[in-house]
Amino acid sequence: MANVESFDLDHTRVHAPYVRLAGVKTTPRGDHISKYDLRLLQPNQGAIDPAAIHTLEHLLAGYLRDHLSDVVDVSPMGCRTGMYMAVIGAPDEQAVLKAFESALRDTAAHDRPIPGVSELECGNYRDHDLVAARQHARDALAQGLKVQQTVLLDRGGSGGTATS
Ligand SMILES: [Zn+2]
Repeated sequence: MANVESFDLDHTRVHAPYVRLAGVKTTPRGDHISKYDLRLLQPNQGAIDPAAIHTLEHLLAGYLRDHLSDVVDVSPMGCRTGMYMAVIGAPDEQAVLKAFESALRDTAAHDRPIPGVSELECGNYRDHDLVAARQHARDALAQGLKVQQTVLLDRGGSGGTATS
């Protein structure tokens, strides 16, 4: 099985909420595609309810694009503690941090219908929670977002703590 970058991140040594550059791919034509973690909750200390993270997905899909150009994709993490974002190019971490903060501010203030919520536009349009999504955005902003450096798992060797 191919190696997956996020399985090498030591999830016990990060401090959410944060943005983290997870990796940069170079296409055969030489373009860069960067992948970021946009983590809202501390790993293994809670999870965003499915309806709330679904609403965050709908709102951040638009609001992140308002503040950062060339966003390819924004998707929920399966562990429901944050989002993944892919973007063309290599925006620096501070620019991504500012864009995420701005998008969360927009999300916290969102008082209109959730975009893309109909049977035609969404795969589970009944499963949304705007109140909880706004609260998660407010909570993250109140805690203060930062840039998280990657802390790799120590998988064995002397003094290692490989437990996977
Ligand atoms: Zn949807």
